[in-house]
Amino acid sequence: MHPLLEMKGFILDVDGVIGRGDKPIPQAVKAVNRLIEMGKKVVFVSNNSTRSRKIYMQRFKDFGVNAKEDQMFLTTYVTATYIKQNYGKAKIFTTGEPGLVEELKLAGHQIVDYRDADILVVGSNRQISFEILTKALRMCLDQDKTYIATNPDKIFPSEDGPVPGTGMIIGALYWMTDRMPDCICGKPEKVIMEQALDYLQLKADEVVVVGDQIDVDVVAGKRVGAKTLLVLSGVTTEENLDRMIEKFDEKPDFILRDLSELFDTL
Ligand SMILES: [Mg+2]
Repeated sequence: MHPLLEMKGFILDVDGVIGRGDKPIPQAVKAVNRLIEMGKKVVFVSNNSTRSRKIYMQRFKDFGVNAKEDQMFLTTYVTATYIKQNYGKAKIFTTGEPGLVEELKLAGHQIVDYRDADILVVGSNRQISFEILTKALRMCLDQDKTYIATNPDKIFPSEDGPVPGTGMIIGALYWMTDRMPDCICGKPEKVIMEQALDYLQLKADEVVVVGDQIDVDVVAGKRVGAKTLLVLSGVTTEENLDRMIEKFDEKPDFILRDLSELFDTL
């Protein structure tokens, strides 16, 4: 039996671990369902900042993963929760898409014009406009306004090549104002991992963090003191593994071709 099957909890990245874009990785999905059947506590963490959990559940259903909405920690939800826990119900202006707005509202926050907002929430927006950036810029220039970003991803690997991530907006604001977010909620930062651990009701050393990116998933896991498993089914592959290991300081505790290999060890 693979030593990681001794762990009580699994914090699983989604893209590159159980699916690639809209396509599932069937043997990995099977492995996830097997973990759940074994009674392992499983949560999913994703830096996705454009979808609500409700929208995301559809993808999980299509993949065939037997998971519930509350096992899903997307940065839309994580950011909304973080703000509620630290600032109460807030007046927010966001650059984000309807999926982010939905989670912010579900947490009890009010979405208002930038002049009335206390908190700027930066999330990715595939329809970002000069007008939205102008409003975000003006909030950034006001040191009394809190500035929170969903996730730090600079670029995102889509099926036909890289596309801009939330970093497009964080970067633009930084270039204009020299200001970085007061808090970033997504991986490799700790907020998302802490919320996942809190939900699991487990200590970090009882948990393994699984992901396909050393600088995102492995670093996030190490920061909270969890074991880490790098899978080669996404951004990191068998072909580029040596280069990736050399490029980043953090080393994963375990490496497998994909999640199903947890069960292949005889
Ligand atoms: Mg990934």
